[in-house]
Amino acid sequence: MTSRGPLGRPVNVAVLGATGSIGQQTLDVIDRNPARLRLFGLTEGRRSAKRTAEYLIQGQAGEADFDTRVEAMVTDPRCDLVVVAIPGARALAPTLHALKAGKEVALATKEVLVMAGALVMKAAGQRGIRPVDSEHSAIWQCLWGESRDSVRRLILTASGGPFWAHPDLDLDQVTLEEALNHPRWSMGPKVTIDSATLMNKGLEVIEAHHLFDVALERISVVIHPQSVVHSMVEFVDGSLKAQLGRPDMRLPISVALGYPDRLADAVPPTVVEELDALDFHSLDEERFPSVGLAREAALKGGGRPAVLNAANEEAVNAFLLGAIPFSGIVQAVERALHAFPGTGDSLEEILEADRWAREYVKVKSGRLKT
Ligand code: MG
Repeated sequence: MTSRGPLGRPVNVAVLGATGSIGQQTLDVIDRNPARLRLFGLTEGRRSAKRTAEYLIQGQAGEADFDTRVEAMVTDPRCDLVVVAIPGARALAPTLHALKAGKEVALATKEVLVMAGALVMKAAGQRGIRPVDSEHSAIWQCLWGESRDSVRRLILTASGGPFWAHPDLDLDQVTLEEALNHPRWSMGPKVTIDSATLMNKGLEVIEAHHLFDVALERISVVIHPQSVVHSMVEFVDGSLKAQLGRPDMRLPISVALGYPDRLADAVPPTVVEELDALDFHSLDEERFPSVGLAREAALKGGGRPAVLNAANEEAVNAFLLGAIPFSGIVQAVERALHAFPGTGDSLEEILEADRWAREYVKVKSGRLKT
C-alpha cells in the first residue's frame, strides 16, 4: 500500500541532532515508514538507543573529529536527505556542506536561515529547502502549485506564548518555570523561551523571507492562541489559504520527509466538528518588540541578523542560568544591535558578527570578564 517514493527505494536520511525533540520525532517518522524512509546516519549529543546505520556520530560541533565525520556523512554519495535539527548557529556549516553536495535538506534550525539566508538559499539553488518549522511548512503547503506572482502576503501565526494573554503581568518579574510553560507546544528550552519573548516569531519572519523569497514588509504576524491554523498565505485575488492541524511536529517532519507525497497517518486527523472557536489578534509590538527588531535587522542586513540571533541565543542562556531577568533578553538583543558597527555579509563576516554578539552579551550580562 505504501508507495516506495520517487527513488523506487527508501530515501536514505541523515539526522543531525537526533537526541533533541525534533530529532527524536524524526526517528519516529522514519521508523513508522520503513518502505519509504531509511536511517542512513545520525549525530547525537550523548550515546542513546542502539541503532543500525552507516554513520552513528556522538559528540558536539567543534569537538575533535566530529565536524569531519559529519561532513563525510552529509556529503556521502549514498545519502539522499539531511534533516538539520542541531540547535543554533552550529547547524550552519553542516547545512552548507549538504547543500553544496547536492543533497535535499529538511531544515528545523531556523538560525541557519536567519544568520546566512542569502548564502544558504544560493547553495540550495532550484531545489530550495524543505521547511520543518510548523509555520513555514504550512506556508510551503499553501504555495504548492501556486505562482510566485500570485502571492500578496505571508501571514505567520503565533500562539503568543505564556505571557501574551496576561497584559498586566510585569515581564521583569516572571520566573524561569513560567517562561518554560508553553501553552500549546512541547519543545526544547531555547525555542520555548523564544516563544515567550516572541523572538521566535521575529526569527521566523526572517526565515520565511529567505525560504520563500518574499519581501519582509509582506510578511505579517498574527496571534492565534489555539495553534490550529499553522500559517496562511494571502493571494492577489483576495483568496486566503491556511493549513490546519494538530500542534504536533511529526506532521511538518512527515511533510518534509515525504515530499512530494504525503505519508499516511502521520498524526491523528483534526476533527473539524470538534474544533472550538479560532481567535486571531494583532500583535502588540510595543509590549513584544522582538518582531520589529528582527525585521529591522534583516532590512539593514550586513551581519545584523547574525547579531540578532547570536545575542538572543546568549541572552536566553543567561536567563536560563538566572543571570538576567526575562525582560533582559530582548533588551540585550536591542543593545547588541545598536552597538554593532556593521559588516558585509560574506560567510566570514557573518561568523565574525556571531562571535562579536556572543562576547558582547556575555560581557554585558556579567558572564565574561573583560
Ligand atoms: Mg515555528
